[in-house]
Amino acid sequence: MIRCIGTPAEASAVTPTAIKTAISEHGSSCGADLADLVPGSPIPRDLALRLIRCSDDDLAALLAAARAARENFKPGVITYSRKVFLPLTNLCRDYCGYCTFRRDPGEPGAHTMTPEEVLAVARAGEKLGCTEALFSLGDKPELLFPEMRETLRHLGYKSTLHYLEAMCELVLRETSLLPHPNPGLLSAEWIARLAAVSPSMGLMLETTNGALLALGAAHDNAPDKVPAKRLRTIEEAGKQRVPFTTGLLIGIGETPEDRVDTLLAIRDLHDRYGHIQEVIVQNFRAKPTIPMAHAPEPGPGEMLRAAAVARLLMPNVNIQAPPNLNTPYYEELLDAGINDWGGISPLTPDYINPEKPWPHLEQLRLRTEGRGLQLRQRLPVYPEFLPALISRPGLLSEKLQAACDGEGLAKSKGKKKRAA
Ligand code: SF4
Repeated sequence: MIRCIGTPAEASAVTPTAIKTAISEHGSSCGADLADLVPGSPIPRDLALRLIRCSDDDLAALLAAARAARENFKPGVITYSRKVFLPLTNLCRDYCGYCTFRRDPGEPGAHTMTPEEVLAVARAGEKLGCTEALFSLGDKPELLFPEMRETLRHLGYKSTLHYLEAMCELVLRETSLLPHPNPGLLSAEWIARLAAVSPSMGLMLETTNGALLALGAAHDNAPDKVPAKRLRTIEEAGKQRVPFTTGLLIGIGETPEDRVDTLLAIRDLHDRYGHIQEVIVQNFRAKPTIPMAHAPEPGPGEMLRAAAVARLLMPNVNIQAPPNLNTPYYEELLDAGINDWGGISPLTPDYINPEKPWPHLEQLRLRTEGRGLQLRQRLPVYPEFLPALISRPGLLSEKLQAACDGEGLAKSKGKKKRAA
């Protein structure tokens, strides 16, 4: 019997007592805004807008309230997922202005993994105690590139999604790793097919600001980044009760209001379907090779405000920020109410941000513990979503039961080896 921490319902009820205490300890105008919280009620948009625009003097009160909400949700524990990163293909039909991952066919580094490569990486990760196989890939490259159609024909699959489904099934069957696919937009049929071979999946909403599709903006020439289409995919996952990871990308040309509206759109879907297992607050980082090479990066203050407002808007949802994009501000992010560090790989680089290495796990543990918090390894699916998945008989249920401990977190496998 799994005694899971957390429950998947009720995203938006504010946690009254601890927050009020935090506010009273920080006399400020932001504290006055936080005092507008109505116990047991969701935070309204206008209040969230005031909070995300709070002054530096008021930031401490905002963070204290977010921290109190985190402690009310999952006290004393910060999680991470030990993973391998499987860039199944880096060909993509979109051209996002901030992307270093995508390639056109023939470009240096363009690659589609073979089944042998997928299995070799998964098995190496297994030896290092990983429990997640994160499949990241470009969106529907075969629609744009005949070379990808030829690659798929050679591999024996009709589409990238057919190939992804087969590779998720391969990893699930042959290893102890649990697949978590991030393939872009999905139809209802494809959500159902991938849910049969993976306990959770993800799609970053990024932003609800459709103006970023305009010529020269971040999503110019990125047809899969239409916010309404992404919301449809996330909603369909909700209808099918698939534990879902999503989030916002800050610093790509959106305003603080857009950040609040993006969080509210996610909250609304979770309130209706209860399926959002994790909200990632990710910051844009400039790189010399991308179209947005000279765009300003969001500062730590913007990240902290976004993370804290995400926590307050969704006090009972896991909030994650990637440590490798936020060095050295680990303690500050913990203070802003996050409760998860995301996927950390002891083996594979972050192919999305290759110049930002993941922190050494021991260092992350020490710094998390320095804030009085315990670092625990989770599965790609969060504990509160496990009982429903395990109750459906089949290979996925068997693998989940073998991987989780009594609290629904990753079963300890003794001392793990380090990657060279
Ligand atoms: S961010 Fe994703 S959708 Fe956009 S270009 Fe990169 S791989 Fe393609």
